[in-house]
Amino acid sequence: MKKQETLSFQSEVKQLLKLMIHSLYSNKEIFLRELISNASDAADKLRFSALSNQELYENDADLYVRISVDKKNNTLTVSDNCIGMSRIEVINNLGTIAKSGTKAFLESLGSDLSKNNQMIGQFGVGFYSVFIVAEKVIVRSRAAGFPINQGVFWESSGEGEYTIADIEKSSRGTEIILYLRKNEEEFLDNWRLRSIIGKYSDHISLSVEIKNDKDNNVIWEKVNQAKALWTRSKSEISESEYIEFYKHISHDNSSPLIWTHNHVEGKQEYIILLFIPSKASFDLWNRDQKHGLKLYVQRVYIMDDVKQFIPNYLRFVRGIIDCNDLPLNVSREILQDNLLARNLRNALTKRVLHLLDKLAKEDIEKYQVFWQQFGIVIKEGPAEDSSNNIFISKLLRFTTTHTNSSIQNVSLKDYVSRMIEGQNKIFYITADSYTAAKSSPHLELFNKKGIEVLLLSDRTDEWMMSYLSEFDGKKFQSITKSDELLDKLANEDKKLEQEIISKDLEDFVKRVKILLADRVKNVKLTNRLTDTPAIVTTDSNEMTTQMAKLFVAVGQNVPEIKYNFELNPNHRLVQKVSKIVDKTLFSDWIEVFFGEALLAERGVLEDPNLFIQRLNKLF
Ligand code: ADP
Repeated sequence: MKKQETLSFQSEVKQLLKLMIHSLYSNKEIFLRELISNASDAADKLRFSALSNQELYENDADLYVRISVDKKNNTLTVSDNCIGMSRIEVINNLGTIAKSGTKAFLESLGSDLSKNNQMIGQFGVGFYSVFIVAEKVIVRSRAAGFPINQGVFWESSGEGEYTIADIEKSSRGTEIILYLRKNEEEFLDNWRLRSIIGKYSDHISLSVEIKNDKDNNVIWEKVNQAKALWTRSKSEISESEYIEFYKHISHDNSSPLIWTHNHVEGKQEYIILLFIPSKASFDLWNRDQKHGLKLYVQRVYIMDDVKQFIPNYLRFVRGIIDCNDLPLNVSREILQDNLLARNLRNALTKRVLHLLDKLAKEDIEKYQVFWQQFGIVIKEGPAEDSSNNIFISKLLRFTTTHTNSSIQNVSLKDYVSRMIEGQNKIFYITADSYTAAKSSPHLELFNKKGIEVLLLSDRTDEWMMSYLSEFDGKKFQSITKSDELLDKLANEDKKLEQEIISKDLEDFVKRVKILLADRVKNVKLTNRLTDTPAIVTTDSNEMTTQMAKLFVAVGQNVPEIKYNFELNPNHRLVQKVSKIVDKTLFSDWIEVFFGEALLAERGVLEDPNLFIQRLNKLF
């Protein structure tokens, strides 16, 4: 061995190793799945690289991964003749974790092992899972096309350090030797290995072979179909094969929620197999999160993370697309402005939206699982994909005043079916939290009239609503904006009474206007309220409070919102205050009403102390 050195694992690796060994012990056999899955990826990579450089095959294009045991030495060896790794690659791939957001993810894990087990599963344990069953692991690898003396040796007991050196390796590819821990002898048993491989690897397109040395003749027996799963006909593929395939491509340990598998023929020929996960991945919110689509061209793996084929608001979709019409040398740049890629993106988007729509109709429970995990991502849809707005709005689920629960499970169709006579708009309110939305004074009129209101409190809701113009011919209307229909509704029962009161209160409104001057846009009386003395509203063409908050949150300057200040003439306090002559006392009361209205609207006041002082003074 030459150039031998001992290096330390990146600290995240150390952390992951410790966590994983404890969390995944009950499911330790998955290490074999991970190794076979890696070999299969390495085969894909070799086939791809060989497209432009046949010599990489070194006259051996029959790719395989082989599994053998040595009972005397207590070792299990998994060996492939695929792309292999160079010294640098071994250091980068087996000494560090390249996934962005790893640190934050590991920090988020607590001491609850069963919860960590699930989360680590979603994170993808990969190669390091070998240390669940092995006390020492040796990797010997040589990258395809590299000279024989540029093989790499790697050894570690998974505790903090590893040794690396140059070796000679005549065969191309990667060999992984596991020195099994005591009590892990089950993995030396031929039938046990076969059953694990059967369970996890039948969908793998690489030939998985197991050593069969009866009569001293070494025979490598192929134990899987080794045919790309997606090319097989749907009726031949079992549910568990789909699930295992999903786990292989997604690095997610949980089963997918649903999938769609289609062979499309016609103008364009392609096969898609798309999965909706049952859990959001740990990096769903990372800006550089990898999209989960793999591109194959005529069965040959081309690339991961093909963003061009799926919009951002469906970035949780995992799967493959195998296209016959793209050239084998297609690159990301070519896909960028390629008509075919655009058509495929439209087709895939429609497929996923249909799949979700079908799920929503056929399995409400599962759809709720989906919505809980990914609803907030789907809500980016109306802004990103106006052409599918109608479709996306069918998928949306809301909390509303009808259900009295913070679970988002009301569809717009449900809402429309409950609209009252004469109602031609869909009403909504946005606030910082469900509770704030639910207790907003703006709702008083709606509750009284029995009109349902959508209660929105996700951080992207306001932004989403600005892109949703209508559903089923009904426009959306924020109830914090002044609106003719609202006034009409409010005044219905109280018209006469109101006119008399208004006359009396005309002077009062004038006094308030003078007092608040240009701090408000307008002062008026309203019948919208029952228990609250006053609210603020915005004009229909103006930015709402929540929208302004959103801009501020991303560091943008927004002009100050000028509200309409609306007073409830039927409220006893308002009536009393309207009769106060003393200027200071009158001003204190109005400032308190105004402060209360602003507080209800924004959740904060510019000068809370002044507000409290005034309130105490009045008390
Ligand atoms: P992941 O597969 O999720 O990337 P792993 O920890 O399983 O994570 O593997 C890390 C990297 O090591 C892989 O991405 C790959 O580049 C490399 N690797 C692992 N096994 C092999 C193999 N058999 N042949 C070639 N490269 C491999």
